[in-house]
Amino acid sequence: MTPQLQELYEVVLRRNPGEQEFHQAVLEVFESLAPVARKYPEFAQTKILERLCEPERQIIFRVPWVNDRGEVEINRGFRVEFSSVLGPYKGGLRFHPTVYLGTIKFLGFEQTFKNALTGMPIGGGKGGSDFDPKGRSDREVMTFCQSFMTELYRHIGEYTDVPAGDIGVGAREIGFLFGQYKRITNRYESGVLTGKGLGWGGSLVRKEATGYGAVFFGDEMLHARGDSFDGKRVVVSGSGNVAIYAAEKAQQLGATVVACSDSGGYVVDDAGLDLDLLKAVKEVERGRISSYADRRAGASFVADGSIWNIECDIALPCATENELDDQAAITLVKNGVQAVVEGANMPSTPAATRIFLDADVLFAPGKAANAGGVATSALEMQQNASRDRWTHEYTEERLAGIMRGIHERCAASADEYGAPGNYIVGANTSSFVQLAEATFALGVI
Ligand code: GLU
Repeated sequence: MTPQLQELYEVVLRRNPGEQEFHQAVLEVFESLAPVARKYPEFAQTKILERLCEPERQIIFRVPWVNDRGEVEINRGFRVEFSSVLGPYKGGLRFHPTVYLGTIKFLGFEQTFKNALTGMPIGGGKGGSDFDPKGRSDREVMTFCQSFMTELYRHIGEYTDVPAGDIGVGAREIGFLFGQYKRITNRYESGVLTGKGLGWGGSLVRKEATGYGAVFFGDEMLHARGDSFDGKRVVVSGSGNVAIYAAEKAQQLGATVVACSDSGGYVVDDAGLDLDLLKAVKEVERGRISSYADRRAGASFVADGSIWNIECDIALPCATENELDDQAAITLVKNGVQAVVEGANMPSTPAATRIFLDADVLFAPGKAANAGGVATSALEMQQNASRDRWTHEYTEERLAGIMRGIHERCAASADEYGAPGNYIVGANTSSFVQLAEATFALGVI
């Protein structure tokens, strides 16, 4: 980092005390930017980076609701609207007990760069709540979502801010949120939320898009080295939407996915995951993966320890931030991992990332590799705006093309800024230049 970037980073630390994940996300971008700062002195003169680190708007609100026992519960709701220079704020909502302002700011910051990288007209934002949907009845989830939207509705709109899902928010929650938005506003404004159900304005392939997109990106990266997913042994962490469809696409491309996890432990299935069974357990029953192992001959469930101890050629961390630390990275490298593709947002710690780069492991950072989800949200917005509905084949082809484009932009930008093959530098520089040019062009706002 240049002394100017270092100084600026210290300002970010001072202005955002205690928000460790946000600091980490900002530092990772700053570490790539020295050559860009040299090339474009006008960006420093107009404080572009300072502006990008300060969200345009941060909304924090009370979410009161009544549980099934008739008790009042209070949660905290967030929407951080980071940047709208490229389009309406766009990014998911996360419902998880660990959510605090720092989580949403880190995710919103990542989202802004990720969205720029897609080349589509979407700004960046993120929201959520410390509400824990786990173990709640459908009625409780609905009541919570209705109360959450009763405040959020005044801040969003198809030209303003378009939320979607993230951890803890899927089609069920988006349905309850959309229903309440529609009721309050008396408008069938389909483009106000993405990740909707297929029968009421959703897009085919949206559910699969983050996982599929990550594997498409990984495949491009492998092809650039004359390799592919075919015949590879793959470990996927997590067992949500991203993990399931990353595993599905990897298996379609000829890989064997031998493990996945949830917060209770991990499953090892050397024959390759039975995805119909995994979907039945996770999507239909909303159950734990231990019950996958109970029902599948040859599979075993491990309650303790790290999924990254399992030997593999390709690792797909698709669970959550900082799930893959330096110890895990050392083990993966020792076991011969060839590529790491981040399906989750910031799943590798900075130390783990350094270990992969030093060992010449192909590394796809989340903001590039998992951009297929939000890109397909943008395709959902296009379908809503034109009141059209595309086929599965066409939508998946669009997604594949977008991921190829992201890969090309990352690779070209990494070359341009003197770090060939480094997709972190490629992703950060390419998205930053796009955001900075638009921020510069729109004046001091
Ligand atoms: N939460 C997803 C992400 O991290 C998707 C956001 C969206 O579709 O708006 O990119």
